[in-house]
Amino acid sequence: MTAETETALKPKDYKSGVRPVWCVGCGDYGVHSGVQKAFAACKLSIDNTVSVSGIGCSSRMPYFLKTYGFHTLHGRVLPVATGIKLANPSLEVVAFGGDGDGFSIGGGHVPHTVRKNIPITYVLMDNHIYGLTKGQVSPTSSSGFVTVTTPYGSPDPGSVNPLAYVLTYGGTFVAQTFSSNPKQMGEIIAKAIRHKGFSLVNIISPCVTFNKVDTFDHFKEVITDLPEDHDSSDLISALDKALNPPAGKVYTGIFYETERPTLLDNLNAIQQKAGVDKDMDLNKIIDKFKS
Ligand code: SF4
Ligand code: MG
Repeated sequence: MTAETETALKPKDYKSGVRPVWCVGCGDYGVHSGVQKAFAACKLSIDNTVSVSGIGCSSRMPYFLKTYGFHTLHGRVLPVATGIKLANPSLEVVAFGGDGDGFSIGGGHVPHTVRKNIPITYVLMDNHIYGLTKGQVSPTSSSGFVTVTTPYGSPDPGSVNPLAYVLTYGGTFVAQTFSSNPKQMGEIIAKAIRHKGFSLVNIISPCVTFNKVDTFDHFKEVITDLPEDHDSSDLISALDKALNPPAGKVYTGIFYETERPTLLDNLNAIQQKAGVDKDMDLNKIIDKFKS
């Protein structure tokens, strides 16, 4: 369920007065624009929406959106977003970050946020590199990737596949899109926000300054929509599409979408079972334990 505003806002109404400081041509500009479109399509109330991020170029996003914002520590976007949602379930919580922040420094948080089906949206800007620190191998870089700190190529034998990772841990909405495809991106982020449960939108968002391999031109060649007959309720098919796209191709679209109880649903059910009085006076309970 989304925290809707009564008056429809335009995409630009979700833009803060702070001018983005990304390099000219960075893919994150496209994501900024797609997010504004999605917020408007979902009629999000500015006062009831929180943008949360970790550390990295893409994690600057909350500054550029006119919502409540929280720029947290490196890799800690998901636990903070979880805390905000559990403390006030009526808020719409959207988490932002990059591939390094999400799948390296914060990698340990992803499985638990996914399996608990925390009802937040995770917009991940994947550029296959650490951009803010001037170009190092990230968990989604390919083996052999040459950077300033790996002049003979990345020795890592494998890379993280964000889609397969989240599908495996029980993700209930898993999608991928491209920052150069504003229409598809806006629609997918809007669906992710409306989804009841944890949703991942992995956005291929090239770093034009430090990644000279995974460029806009490269992705324009290799990106292809999921087949029209793809059944997004079929987990095995979604995993197969995430792991085995046609040779040299990268799929975009909604890989998987399903519903199961969220952590909030289960906590509410437990409170009912335990007969919790929501209007209880916490101070009276604390007084019981005072000597
Ligand atoms: Fe974007 Fe790369 Fe510049 Fe960071 S360094 S703002 S990711 S182009
Ligand atoms: Mg990155």
